Amino acid sequence: MLGKKLLAIGLLVLGATQLMAGPSAPANVDQRRMLSADREAGNWMSVGRTFDEQRFSPLTQINEGNVSQLGLAWYVDLPVDRGVEASPLVIDGVLYNIEPWNVTTAYDAATGKQLWRYDPQVNRDFGRLACCDIVSRGVAAWKGRIYLATLDGRLIAVDAKNGKPVWSVNTFEPVWPYTITGAPRVYDGKVIIGNAGAEGSARGYVTAYDAASGKQLWRFHTVPGNPADGYDDPAMAMAAKTWTGEWWKIGGGGTVWDAVAYDPKLKLIYIGTGNGGPWPWKVRSPGGGDNLFVSSIVAVHADTGKYAWHYQTTPEDEWDFTATQSIILADLTIAGKPRKVLMQAPKNGFFYVLDRVTGELISAEPYVAMNWANGIDKATGRPNINPEAHFGANPVLLTPGPAGGHNWQPMAFSPQTGLAYFPVTELYVAFSRNTSFKPVAGSMSQTGLSASGFDVTRKAMAEYAAKHNTVWLTAWDPVAQKERWRVPFPLRGSGGVLATAGNLVFEGTIHGTLAAFNAATGAKLWDSPIQQIAIAAPVTFTAGGEQYVAVNAGWGGGLAHSVDPRGLGVPLSKARLLVFKLGGKAALPAMHIRTDGLYRPPLVGVDISMTRTGEELYARHCAGCHGERAVGGVKDLRRMDKPTHGEFLDIVIGGKRKERGMASFADLISREEADAIHAYLIKRTNEDWNSISEE
Ligand code: CA
Repeated sequence: MLGKKLLAIGLLVLGATQLMAGPSAPANVDQRRMLSADREAGNWMSVGRTFDEQRFSPLTQINEGNVSQLGLAWYVDLPVDRGVEASPLVIDGVLYNIEPWNVTTAYDAATGKQLWRYDPQVNRDFGRLACCDIVSRGVAAWKGRIYLATLDGRLIAVDAKNGKPVWSVNTFEPVWPYTITGAPRVYDGKVIIGNAGAEGSARGYVTAYDAASGKQLWRFHTVPGNPADGYDDPAMAMAAKTWTGEWWKIGGGGTVWDAVAYDPKLKLIYIGTGNGGPWPWKVRSPGGGDNLFVSSIVAVHADTGKYAWHYQTTPEDEWDFTATQSIILADLTIAGKPRKVLMQAPKNGFFYVLDRVTGELISAEPYVAMNWANGIDKATGRPNINPEAHFGANPVLLTPGPAGGHNWQPMAFSPQTGLAYFPVTELYVAFSRNTSFKPVAGSMSQTGLSASGFDVTRKAMAEYAAKHNTVWLTAWDPVAQKERWRVPFPLRGSGGVLATAGNLVFEGTIHGTLAAFNAATGAKLWDSPIQQIAIAAPVTFTAGGEQYVAVNAGWGGGLAHSVDPRGLGVPLSKARLLVFKLGGKAALPAMHIRTDGLYRPPLVGVDISMTRTGEELYARHCAGCHGERAVGGVKDLRRMDKPTHGEFLDIVIGGKRKERGMASFADLISREEADAIHAYLIKRTNEDWNSISEE
């Protein structure tokens, strides 16, 4: 009797502890806290802050009236020289961050004191498979654990107290060259994660795991497998009717590499899917077809992973038009009626507003100049695709380019202004087909584009592009489908966006600053040099009653492809995590400008026919990471120092820099071919020497 009574009291106490558990245990996030996240505005508990992924903070301590007093509170150097794309989480005074190679850290959010560091020892061979750098866009938190997804495919739960691993599962099907760069999301005790790989050949999917145990709960494939094996879902039988040929042998693409949003009332998960893989439509699906669910927004039931509805933004994709960009949920009044909407500004240049209950298209208008399509057929929801956009061997100038009108840089939405904020790139690219392209399962060179030889047509196109390529931060009204203001930039590469109730929009800029703009007008209110380019989206939080703004800054990722910000005079330090507050007095160290090591390799003895072969091989194997024509990329190869030139074969064939993400290419190219690539790079360095050496 007494025992029972004690037990009852024990349960009661346990219940009370659970109710109050919030601040008492680290990262004790649960469904109840996430549903009322706006009542604890000082926390940033999920990568998009809330289930609706708005990246809007209700905090007002830092506002349009005082943001000019923002100063550095603390910073830490990150031990990498690569792109950093993560938005940190901040929960009850602890900041959780993730660096390249998925090194995960926790800091006292007010002081920057490191609490723990966990290195999952990512297999460096996967560096070569990542199309766009060894990045991660964030972590998730749930009931005392931090969840990270690694480049090499593991989903790992670590104890939020000390960073010690609790469980780890492999999320990959072994057939395809997958990587993970996206942030996991947790809802209702389930961790959801997708992957990347459609630049090679891969079959996209997302998987939900039990947050407590790591047990797989469901998996949803985004493109059908071999019909002979039967379909794992009726939705796949439907999707298979939009494919022809033997697509399953080469993957199909549609990888879910970034956006995920969750509606707890509708119990739906929304995923954005990537481009078709391989890129050429008629190589992937010789008889045509829309190729579902490539380049689509798909709603699946959160509990079961079963298909609910889809909206395909780009049927017949062969332009790398992923629909993986930020998916934001909001309740908007449209034509006098309250609507539950989903918003996305994917690569293809349209800003979409969908009914998130049914998937019905409410509106879609171009947010950037486009010529691949001429509007959307409102009756069918399909884009009116310009037939010339299905290019062949002759170059066709298209916009947006494969980098998209908007890429992964997170979009923010302010319910206060009713505006969506995101960086826009108007980019003209000459597309032409390598007509002898044959897809190879598992290879990472599946674009099927011909190398950028400079014939007369292409030269004219490049000149047109150089005059018309434009970049800006937009404030987009999703109800009116109109731009309200824009802030122009000289080069692409500005970062993701944070919006706050202080009537502010924060963004890292290509000028090497973190800037704050008036959310209603776009007027610049504050701008601080950070010795780096912050491509990641900032977050804001409170610790000890004070509001802070935090941002990761590390130039790289896909945005660095063919972009060289040194021309703007931006000095680049090591990657950093920087945290600001009103009256912050911390100072960055004096900048050490790297002028050492610039080397002009002699052209004497370099065979011109070899450089042509090298150009083709470079475009096929190297441009994905190192930029078209060797401009920009994760390492600008026109800036190799003398020792690197000397070790070129040891690196490319011998794998000497595998630890830094450059694994051997011996399985794909011969020593002679590597020599040809080297000859091409020597030629390119000499061609651009004047501009390189003047910077
Ligand atoms: Ca892609």
